[in-house]
Amino acid sequence: MDAAIEQSNAPSAPVWAEELLGWFQTEQRPFPWRRRPQTPFRTWVSEVMLQQTRAETAATYFERFLACFPDVSALAAASQEEVLRVWEGLGYYARARNLHAAARLVVERYGGRLPRTECELRKLPGLGPYTAAAVASLAFGEPVPAMDGNVLRVMARFLALDHSVREAGVREYIRSVLAPVLRNVTPGPFNEALMELGALVCTPRGPRCGDCPLRTACRAHAEGRAAELPVRPPRRRIPHYAVAVGIVWKEGKVLIGRRRTDRMLGGLWEFPGGKVEPGESPVEAVVREIREETGIEVAVVDRLCTVKHAYTHFRVTLTAFECRWEAGQAVANSADCVRWVNPDDLADYPFPVANRRIIHALALRGGRQADGAGTCQNSSMGAW
Ligand code: SF4
Repeated sequence: MDAAIEQSNAPSAPVWAEELLGWFQTEQRPFPWRRRPQTPFRTWVSEVMLQQTRAETAATYFERFLACFPDVSALAAASQEEVLRVWEGLGYYARARNLHAAARLVVERYGGRLPRTECELRKLPGLGPYTAAAVASLAFGEPVPAMDGNVLRVMARFLALDHSVREAGVREYIRSVLAPVLRNVTPGPFNEALMELGALVCTPRGPRCGDCPLRTACRAHAEGRAAELPVRPPRRRIPHYAVAVGIVWKEGKVLIGRRRTDRMLGGLWEFPGGKVEPGESPVEAVVREIREETGIEVAVVDRLCTVKHAYTHFRVTLTAFECRWEAGQAVANSADCVRWVNPDDLADYPFPVANRRIIHALALRGGRQADGAGTCQNSSMGAW
């Protein structure tokens, strides 16, 4: 550890930093945000998309997003629903809402020009320590470390740290090592190079030390401990929830509600429903949830499909039922608003991925109400 500090305190860039930059020049992947012209707006959008998302996935959305919103003014002028619709499928929708809100602030407060420092960028919605540092260094050359999961893993190995990078003190230590190095290199490429090294060579499992430009200075490699590091905290069990949702039909239309913006997936539309409580069947749950959420009574007609989906902290199994409206006026008890829509128009609304798969199943059935003339009683749907 001390050797690394000594190296990083040197007045010129340490050899390992130069070798890392040389490696990046030849090995970096050709993502669309690396093409010219590299504007601060493109850098910002890419960094937001890359939060929690693999670069290959983000790349498929990046061009489409930029085609719809080529600059900060275009993004600020769009409605939140338009932005969510273009973002649909990328997940973590708070990112899109924050990006949109921040674009409006940039136009109102900064005349449409993105602030140039990490400190100023942190004042915008959705720009946490990592994203603000990444944008400041990549777009404006500020010498600040951008420490994402890849960088923390590389540095935990490079410095052979025996504590988890989740500890604030460990992150501060890594920052203190990188900060003086950044003052002696081109900050943007250096930060990107460390991230790219973590993505391509110093990967979570099976780091390829033989191909690594840092191997001569890397302490974990020297000690033969690369695969053991970084120290991993104990794994948490991921909870699983059974959820029942209803496609409620009334006069050829189906009922959807928009999630409140202070909730997960806020601003997206969904079919009404909710968690199946202990001792309850999914059929009982969907009838109860729709009554509680919208104030209407429904009869379950048929099961449409079952969809499994994993979020970061939990997994869900959604069972979707086609239901017939029986009585009552739909109200928004737990949503922003509710709306009866023609099934052909569902494509115009932003939905979470799991609901989009239900819409796909509905389309496969012809986008029409199930023919079940009767009502499926709970006794005959016990397994559901
Ligand atoms: S030498 Fe091995 S452990 Fe060290 S940074 Fe490179 S890939 Fe990671």
